[in-house]
Amino acid sequence: MSRLPRPYVVASCAVSLDGFLDDSSAARLVLSNEADLDRVDEVRAGCDAILVGAETVRRDNPRLLVRSDVRRQARVAAGLPENPVKVTLTTSGDLDPDRAFFTAGDAPKLVYAASGAVAGLRERLGEAATVIDAGSVVDLPTVLADLAARGVRRLLVEGGGRVHTAFLGADLVDELQLVVAPFLVGDEQAPRWVGTGPFPHDPGRPMRLVEVRQLGEVVLLRYALTAADRFWLGEAIEESRRCPRSETAYAVGAIIVDRDGREIARGYSRESDPRVHAEEAALAKVDLGDPRLPTATIYSSLEPCSVRASRPRPCAELILDAGIRRVVFAWREPDLFVDCRGAEVLTGAGVDVVELPDLAPLVRDVNAHLFAGRRGRPDDR
Ligand SMILES: [Zn+2]
Repeated sequence: MSRLPRPYVVASCAVSLDGFLDDSSAARLVLSNEADLDRVDEVRAGCDAILVGAETVRRDNPRLLVRSDVRRQARVAAGLPENPVKVTLTTSGDLDPDRAFFTAGDAPKLVYAASGAVAGLRERLGEAATVIDAGSVVDLPTVLADLAARGVRRLLVEGGGRVHTAFLGADLVDELQLVVAPFLVGDEQAPRWVGTGPFPHDPGRPMRLVEVRQLGEVVLLRYALTAADRFWLGEAIEESRRCPRSETAYAVGAIIVDRDGREIARGYSRESDPRVHAEEAALAKVDLGDPRLPTATIYSSLEPCSVRASRPRPCAELILDAGIRRVVFAWREPDLFVDCRGAEVLTGAGVDVVELPDLAPLVRDVNAHLFAGRRGRPDDR
């Protein structure tokens, strides 16, 4: 049992106060300012690929390059290409090779096209792009799995409205960056940044606001979506598959992630010695005074321990000592070896504890051998 791999997805757009991306005139409506363009440039420089819909390629003709020399040089110094890979999606195949998407910069250009459009596009675009068959209708999980296989770990989605609607509707956005301009468009013919749902984030399941930043007259709102928790918890579960096998202890994976959705450290059970726990292994790789820790989240495949047989300091206490205020885990520890109250201890200390029990079967699967032939299995009680 495993999950389809995908990159971490950041969706970004600038809108009017009434939620429009543009007006209906031929000229492009400016919603951003210089300070925000510089911010977006930094976000781009921190991603492996940038995705826009074919409508955006046709209508806005964006270059999708990192503008700053310093940021491009920093990418090269880090062993990355100067610019992120460019990605677009098309059903109709209506894309011209003279668009800036294809002509600007040396980065690879990937076009995910519906099967019926592939042959025509390959002929039309020639060497300008790699055209990939994305199925009879372009399937986003398939596109994301293909991007992950090409080494894309962080993807920036820059619109337009149909693309944002599809990604948000499919719960494939980990972080949303919305910039709001201080005026109204009030034109029903104009495109909105997002269409009609259903969406997973309704009033009963709101997004988590992680930042509000004023940039001159515009405001940046940054939201973490529940997909981000599922993404990182899935990564932690994958990490647990690396644990040396034990007949007497769980295989667990843990990852510490900062508020920008960037990994700080990861670890797994028995990584450095036969008794080390996953959370402990990850925490051992971070300086205790790291300023990112108070706003970081630790993801652990198993509930952090509150009592342990092997060492005096349980992981719940180590997490509190590190100053981490948010914990996400999948599986509540069965009382197989010790009586665990980790979630209770953390919640009691004011930590935000989130349990995603629907991912628990994956964790149980990794630990199935611990239960084989045992009477009174913990989940049978
Ligand atoms: Zn532990």
